[in-house]
Amino acid sequence: MLKITFLGTAGSLPTPYRNPSSILIKKDSELLMFDCGEGAQQQMMRARTGMMSLSSIFITHFHADHVLGIAGLLQTMSFQGRNETLYIYGPEKIDVFIQILTALGYCQLGYEIKTVELKPGDIVEKNGYYIKALKTEHGVESIGYSLVENKRPGKFDRDKAVSLGVPPGPLFSKLQQGNPVEVDGRTVHPEEVVGEPRPGRTVVYSGDTRPCEDVFNASLEADVLIHDGSLDDSKSEWAVESMHSTASEAAELAKKAGVIKLVLTHISSRYTEDESPLLNEANEIFENVVIADDLMEIKIQYKK
Ligand SMILES: [Zn+2]
Ligand SMILES: [Zn+2]
Repeated sequence: MLKITFLGTAGSLPTPYRNPSSILIKKDSELLMFDCGEGAQQQMMRARTGMMSLSSIFITHFHADHVLGIAGLLQTMSFQGRNETLYIYGPEKIDVFIQILTALGYCQLGYEIKTVELKPGDIVEKNGYYIKALKTEHGVESIGYSLVENKRPGKFDRDKAVSLGVPPGPLFSKLQQGNPVEVDGRTVHPEEVVGEPRPGRTVVYSGDTRPCEDVFNASLEADVLIHDGSLDDSKSEWAVESMHSTASEAAELAKKAGVIKLVLTHISSRYTEDESPLLNEANEIFENVVIADDLMEIKIQYKK
């Protein structure tokens, strides 16, 4: 299972339809949150994602629209009886920010919080996948993230195994695990019946940024790239000044990197009435692009 739920997709200002930035990724039975803008906890309730399996929060930077939801979410989980440790990752000074947020409201949390400072290139190893911190360009201390699954074993050719005299059963699993087996005095090697290792899935989240090299490199053939697409081409100077990206810049990067799907987020409140400039401009460059909506879900399937 690899599912993305967009909890908040607004730019710096929320709108009646868009909450500030927050993305939830369900990886098997675990929930990972990326940024936690105001109202993220209620969006989790609306999306019925549950909270108890939230293991970690990854923060891209400390602009208010990416962190103001943390205090409320932490307190709600405590009221609900959480006792498992919560990990909060982020750029330099994450420990100070979380100390300030947890000091609010006289709330004694019933569980431990572990903060972990990440620099670009740092890797958080998980079971069967990892999260990597990426260097981004937003004018303040900031990082993006990629979630990368380990390679999966190649496809097992059952018919070929049978034709080589291997009986279905425990010897099949031995071969699938990469071990040779003996049949009628002959050795059958895994390479004879197991194909090339197959890629896992990759999701990249840029956070707020100008188009940049590290996000590009992490996005090479990624399944989903969630990129800052705050502005349209007529605001390209403002995109440079405010250190965001235009929809077409995100599309250029997605195209060059060969990503499968591009999702634009951090949508400026200017487009509340009409988002078509963003989508049209991106679409001219890259076909498989969508604008994220609050509560939109994307399930990612394996490529092969
Ligand atoms: Zn922002
Ligand atoms: Zn920002």
